[in-house]
Amino acid sequence: TLILGIESSCDDTAIAVVNTDRTILSNRVFSQSDLHADFGGIVPEIAARAHAERLDIVAEAALTEAGVALGDIDLVAVTSGPGLIGGVLSGVMFAKGMAAGADIPLIGVNHLAGHALTPRLTDGLEFPYLMLLVSGGHCQFLAVTGPDEFTRMGGTIDDAPGEAFDKTARLLGLSQPGGPLVQAEAESGDPKRFAFPRPLMDRPGFDMSFSGLKTALRRARDKIVEEKGGITRQDRADLCASFQQAVADVLRKKTARALTAFAAEHGATTIAVAGGVAANTAVRAGLQQAARDAGFTFTAPPLKLCTDNGAMIAWAGWERYRLGQSDDMTLAARPRWPLDKTAAPMLGSGK
Ligand code: ATP
Ligand code: FE
Repeated sequence: TLILGIESSCDDTAIAVVNTDRTILSNRVFSQSDLHADFGGIVPEIAARAHAERLDIVAEAALTEAGVALGDIDLVAVTSGPGLIGGVLSGVMFAKGMAAGADIPLIGVNHLAGHALTPRLTDGLEFPYLMLLVSGGHCQFLAVTGPDEFTRMGGTIDDAPGEAFDKTARLLGLSQPGGPLVQAEAESGDPKRFAFPRPLMDRPGFDMSFSGLKTALRRARDKIVEEKGGITRQDRADLCASFQQAVADVLRKKTARALTAFAAEHGATTIAVAGGVAANTAVRAGLQQAARDAGFTFTAPPLKLCTDNGAMIAWAGWERYRLGQSDDMTLAARPRWPLDKTAAPMLGSGK
């Protein structure tokens, strides 16, 4: 069974062909970062237009690379939320056209479910497991107990860590996306030079806060500029290292706490991560240590499947479809769509 997965909720136009035996036949990602580079953030109108223009090119490329024709596809899965409404709409309309044209079923997928179910595609993980989704727009602990069962245990109450990395990069004159550049700078920096805040870290619960970090970082930078008239390379490296250490510390401690609670409630000891920030070596080392200390196995999908992609949407669509679910031509785009139906509105989702 072959699934076409379509993702266009943010700034990547991504389409993949996935076999339900867990083979990824193709996984094309057309990034828009160059289009938004001059604006210091994603411009929704530009994103929507670019998705609309590129979806058929990317679909063509994904099918060609997989060596299949549209007629070979058995199911079309598409991100129908949450995300930037224009981009999601472009994807949903395109998916409807594909499904109608090939006369095959259509299924709408929650983007976050795509991330959260990825380790089932990449590593064949069994339920239940704990998922830490840590990306440019999200930061949350999810207890994943079934293809459609997610319980949000906690997460950021303001910025996502990826957002904080990107803002830090901007404050220090590095380009975007900032995460990898801040990490590279941090390698030659002193993580102890600046004592940046770690709000909520030692409080009970699983909530985190990252928005105070950028204020602290800006203040530290301004103080150096005031004293010396500018910042040296070493200052910048130290700022990056100290910032990164603060993020990694908060994530490590909160993860340790979440692991204990998860094991007590579900009797399982598997943690998986997703999202671009999981690529950060300091963050990853902290999470691995927390997992080791708690006797958990740690799973991290390859980076290309941690960030936005079509393969995760194809897989999540399949997980829903085989439960007997599907959608029809009335499938709507949902800009907001919390995974956990019982949860309060997702604070700080950034989307
Ligand atoms: P979402 O997936 O929540 O919709 P997104 O598409 O922005 O948001 P991802 O594509 O998962 O998120 O990840 C991108 C984010 O990850 C960016 O903020 C980027 O700076 C950050 N990032 C990538 N690599 C690293 C790294 N090595 N260290 C820290 N941050 C990183
Ligand atoms: Fe994402």
